[in-house]
Parts: sequence; structure tokens; C-alpha cells
Amino acid sequence: MSCQMYREALSARLDGEPLGMPVAELDGHLGACASCSVWAVDAERVTRRARLAAAPPVPDLTATVLGALPGELPGARAAARARLTGTGLRLLLLVVGVAQAALAWPVLVHGAGAMSAPVHLAHETGAWNVALAASFLAVAAAPRLAAGALPFLLSFTALLVSVTVADLGAGHVHADRAGAHLVLLVGVAAVAAVAWRGRRRRDLPAVAAQPVTA
Ligand SMILES: [Zn+2]
Repeated sequence: MSCQMYREALSARLDGEPLGMPVAELDGHLGACASCSVWAVDAERVTRRARLAAAPPVPDLTATVLGALPGELPGARAAARARLTGTGLRLLLLVVGVAQAALAWPVLVHGAGAMSAPVHLAHETGAWNVALAASFLAVAAAPRLAAGALPFLLSFTALLVSVTVADLGAGHVHADRAGAHLVLLVGVAAVAAVAWRGRRRRDLPAVAAQPVTA
């Protein structure tokens, strides 16, 4: 084999590429051939000098890059808004729960209260309404409970609204008593909103985990 073959192999080794021949064969030739041995030293020196050459000056783009970045990361504003909405809903449920309890507690404790109903019926109504207050307060404290509370809250509210509208028309209920049910409507709407947000959050992680490509 001619020296040219060994020098090509040597050049490949300096570039970190496959030699095209066994290492032992190349080293064997370098040990035996003075000409190639000298060539190898020169080639190594040239390669090292090329690698150690000063890098061309690069302009400092730090300020430009930082200036081009948006003021805040995409999604940060939406996340902050979502947290604010969640906190607002929980505070609303706290207020609604307290108001609902304030309306229902006297009926539960004292029986008839504002209504001209048999005592036990008033007690029973009071118990239902205090339980509603407890549901609102529970969801305010632990939003993950919202979805589980909805089947009862929605069916109770739908039935109550329909009979209240009918009773108002027939004059069976005073407007202020019917108005107190607005507290219930606000509370159920807030629980539904909390449940809806929880459902969206459970759907999101797979999407949110993907890297941003833009
Ligand atoms: Zn040689």
C-alpha cells in the first residue's frame, strides 16, 4: 500500500473520521516510515493551529435579544387571570354560603320563622337550606368537590325555580321569600363554574406539557 493511503487515513483520524483501515496497520506504518512519521507531526501541528485560531469577533446581541423578548412569558397573563378567577369564585361561594346559612339557620332552630308552615316542615326546610350553605362552603374550601355537588344542586335548583315561578303566579309565596332563592341561584352558578374550570384543567395537562413551537 502506498504512503498516500496511510496519509489519508491519518488525516481522517485527525478529523475524527473512520480510518478505512485497521488502527494497528496505520500505526505500524508510521513506526516504519520516517517520511509519513514526519508528515504526521506536521499534519497534527496544522490541525491544532487551525482549531486554536482565535474566533472571529461576534457582536454582543444580549441587549437586542432581551429587548425582543415579550414583557412576560406567553400564557403567564392567562394563568394569572385564571388564578384570580378561581379565587374570586371561591370568595363568592364563601359569601353565598354564609348568606344562605344566615337565611336558613333561624328556620332550622326556631321552626316556623318567616313562613307559616307546620313546625316540622319548617325544620326540614331549614335543614335542607343549611345543607346547601354547607355545600357552598365546602366547594369554597375544596374546589375539587364542585363536580360531585352539582347533580344534587342543579336538580334541586331547577325544581325549586319552577315551583317558585308557579307559586309567585298563583300568589302562594311573597316576592321577598322568592327573592331569597337568588342566593341559591348565584351559589349554584358559582359551583358550576368551579366544576367547569376543574374539568378543563384535567383535560389540559397533556397539551400544556408539549414544548412550545413557534
Ligand atoms: Zn509512508
